[in-house]
Amino acid sequence: MTKMMNLSPETVSLLLLLALLSPTLLLCSGDSTTVEDESPPTVCIIGSGIGGSSVAHFLRNYSASTALSRSRILMFERHERVGGRMRTVTVSGDTFEAGGSILHPKNYHARDFVKRFNLTVRSPTAIEESSAVGIWDGKRFVFKTFGSSVKIPFVDKIVSWLNDVYMFVRYGLSLLRMSNFIENMIDNFLKYYESLESRPVFDSVEGMLKWSGLYNLTKVTLLEKLSEAQLSPLLVNELVTVITRINYGQSVLISGLAGAVSLAGSGGGLWSVEGGNWQMAEKLINHSDVTLHLNEQIESVSHLGDYYELKSAKGNIFKCDVTVVSTPLDEVDIQFSPAISIPKRELQHTHATFVRGLLNPGYFGMKSVSDVPALVGTLEDPLIPFSCISILRKYGATDMTYKMFTRQPASDSLLDELFSARTETVRIDWGAYPKYHAPEVFAPFILDDHHLYYVNAFENAASTMETSAVAGENMARLIVSRFMTKESSSSSPSSDTKSCSSGLHSDM
Ligand SMILES: Cc1cc2nc3c(=O)[nH]c(=O)nc-3n(C[C@H](O)[C@H](O)[C@H](O)COP(=O)(O)OP(=O)(O)OC[C@H]3O[C@@H](n4cnc5c(N)ncnc54)[C@H](O)[C@@H]3O)c2cc1C
Repeated sequence: MTKMMNLSPETVSLLLLLALLSPTLLLCSGDSTTVEDESPPTVCIIGSGIGGSSVAHFLRNYSASTALSRSRILMFERHERVGGRMRTVTVSGDTFEAGGSILHPKNYHARDFVKRFNLTVRSPTAIEESSAVGIWDGKRFVFKTFGSSVKIPFVDKIVSWLNDVYMFVRYGLSLLRMSNFIENMIDNFLKYYESLESRPVFDSVEGMLKWSGLYNLTKVTLLEKLSEAQLSPLLVNELVTVITRINYGQSVLISGLAGAVSLAGSGGGLWSVEGGNWQMAEKLINHSDVTLHLNEQIESVSHLGDYYELKSAKGNIFKCDVTVVSTPLDEVDIQFSPAISIPKRELQHTHATFVRGLLNPGYFGMKSVSDVPALVGTLEDPLIPFSCISILRKYGATDMTYKMFTRQPASDSLLDELFSARTETVRIDWGAYPKYHAPEVFAPFILDDHHLYYVNAFENAASTMETSAVAGENMARLIVSRFMTKESSSSSPSSDTKSCSSGLHSDM
């Protein structure tokens, strides 16, 4: 009131008019001049994968009636397409998932995205469902399930039943123990979908994992955890190893949590998005009023007083109030000023090779290619040059498309040994996921004392499309909550402002 008395009558009238037009200002701000003069805040997101696009989506959902509600969201993507590690590849005119492929039935954010944006769920094809699985030790198949070449439901059921019996004979009760281990992890993970009222906003990965009961799983290896759960060494060395090699390109020495997530990805009911999982990112971005800058690689992020300056390789400069890093920082070269500090982390490279042609049955000691299982998994032996090979599509008895994962690039000589015919070969080198260790260490979600955030700190827990979405959702809440605190402390010290802001804060 004292301040107002010093203003000219014209200014007073103008301010009163503005206050009347904006009831929120009247209620929430002790100093309407500063608030009204400010342009809407700018949130900059580096990376257009499922993590970055989820941050944008949830920011729009959660910032209504906060200072961020009018924010501009800028998203930067170094490539010419969105989606990041969700990407398809085209082989002979057919499209296949090349990166993040399968989703779990309880991946509830992904399920919601698909429903919300009218995308189509793709269930496993007949080939995938009736596939025989073989475990290759470098010399022979130590275990093979039965495949069904006849697509008759009754026959399928018998084959599936036979496989269950066959698996039980080999691995016994350990299979049930493994299933309990996975279910327990999933039950804990489901806490991340609880209501906003009962779920805190997490400002660290450790806090987020401790709250759901998953933290201890990151402190021990999968091997230790499964031994503790009394799984037989045979099951761990065979089936579990095959799964961790397929899903993370790594052995059972990964952390217990990454291992449990990997095992969950081998169960039933798995699905993907028809036409490509990357469409989830595309839809999230399109529906979140985002200004998308494709082919815009960010090279530096500098904190200059009360904003960030982002510079791109093209020489463009962007001014941001909030900066969100939504990509693993381990292999990208972004200069931060002042420097940030995160634990060193290496990425596991997975070389995905797609081949149209025919496998060489002789490589596997077989006479006919039909004897080779449709999915060949492998044991942990440095002499085995691939992690897995699977049939993606059968065009005929001697013409198929395969997907192979290796830890090293697949040389032509290796491919010539493995395949008797190749008409097309496509290679992708992925900096795929973190190399998991136990005990795991985590980078901070908040990289400085201001508004620089790191979504992919959560990837050291587990790397999946859904975990990126879960981390993105928490990040959006964290940003809104912290931004409100900043706004309330910087805009005015009046008690009105404080009570208004803290009300919004507690809603998050
Ligand atoms: C081969 C493979 C198989 C997988 N299988 C599965 C699976 O079956 N199921 C599953 O759930 N998950 C799977 N994953 C993991 C899953 O794909 C990832 O965890 C998830 O997609 C990560 O999303 P993200 O948004 O966090 O990161 P990303 O998808 O990596 O997005 C980061 C984005 O940032 C961009 N970027 C990087 N640096 C800059 C810069 N300086 N400036 C601008 N843009 C930049 C990148 O180009 C990229 O688009 C797999 C991954 C791989 C590689």
